[in-house]
Amino acid sequence: MQKKVTPLSEFGEFGLIDHITNDFKKVNKETLYGIGDDAAVLDYVDKKVLITTDLLVEGIHFNLVYTPLKHLGYKAVVVNLSDIVAMNGTPKQITFSLAVSSKFSVEAIEELYEGVNLACKKYNVDLIGGDTSSSLTGLLISVTAIGDANDIVYRNGAKETDLICVSGDLGAAYMGLQLLEREKSVFSETSHVQPDLSGYDYILERQLKPEARIDIIKILKEKEILPTSMIDISDGLSSELLHICKQSKTGCRIYTEKIPIDAETCKMANEFNFSPETAALNGGEDYELLFTIPISDFEKIKSIKGISVIGNITNASEGLNLISPEGSFIQITAQGWNAIK
Ligand code: ADP
Ligand code: MG
Repeated sequence: MQKKVTPLSEFGEFGLIDHITNDFKKVNKETLYGIGDDAAVLDYVDKKVLITTDLLVEGIHFNLVYTPLKHLGYKAVVVNLSDIVAMNGTPKQITFSLAVSSKFSVEAIEELYEGVNLACKKYNVDLIGGDTSSSLTGLLISVTAIGDANDIVYRNGAKETDLICVSGDLGAAYMGLQLLEREKSVFSETSHVQPDLSGYDYILERQLKPEARIDIIKILKEKEILPTSMIDISDGLSSELLHICKQSKTGCRIYTEKIPIDAETCKMANEFNFSPETAALNGGEDYELLFTIPISDFEKIKSIKGISVIGNITNASEGLNLISPEGSFIQITAQGWNAIK
């Protein structure tokens, strides 16, 4: 069946904004006024407010050959919510701005906003505005997320002897990306061969549909654990550890065999002759939380499923070290994704 294709010009800017924002329902009391005026109005009474923003550029941050627009909309929102969560905050509002070229249809933008709406519903977030422009080439998306927090956790609070913890597992999103890239090149060379993505649902989902770990900060609160420092893992474990240690003026030790890695990630890495630990350390886009806690909270953290203690914070003079199962020390350096090449 042929998909319906309505050119953007048929709607015009204002018609398009009305059309795509129609299905969004406001859920938070902090949102006094959303879309429709020159600015949105928020009321956080006397709370501290967190704001974060991200820019996503076609061909740099995403590839539309293998990224469905609905997934892209979802992911663009989630990666911003993850930054609010990494401050120990609760996301409440987003703005969503885009520049589109004429190669996009109204239906394509609808699909993108379906993903945005899905993320807003799942995370109880209000879409309160944005901006819409045309672009000469590809698609450009900018999302801003706003939220609040009672106890803000920064990157700079880690202390010597603190335990280093990570949620979920690492490296899967990176191996998912490698699989998509491989199938893309096979497909472009032999267009009659359909991509073979079977058996790799988990790593593909990790790449295409990541989640913000708001469940983790909720359970930490329940267990009365307040992290001393926290960051979300967008650029790989090494890079995030460097951020925490640099800002906290500490060193660290992490143990290779304690890094949580899913079996599917290992299987894919083996196929690529790639070390799964390298995927965890230097891959990116896992959006798990890396945080430190006082050693006195060890018993409490042990009781939480899906959190791994991977090492501890040391004096700055020790540097950042990865300890192999044989006990040798390897210095940790950042080789994660660098936006400015
Ligand atoms: P202005 O000319 O003041 O920038 P716009 O006509 O661009 O206003 O926007 C009108 C309303 O629609 C505003 O509330 C704005 O935040 C919202 N809006 C514009 N573009 C988008 C978008 N892509 N997604 C969500 N809301 C949007
Ligand atoms: Mg505008």
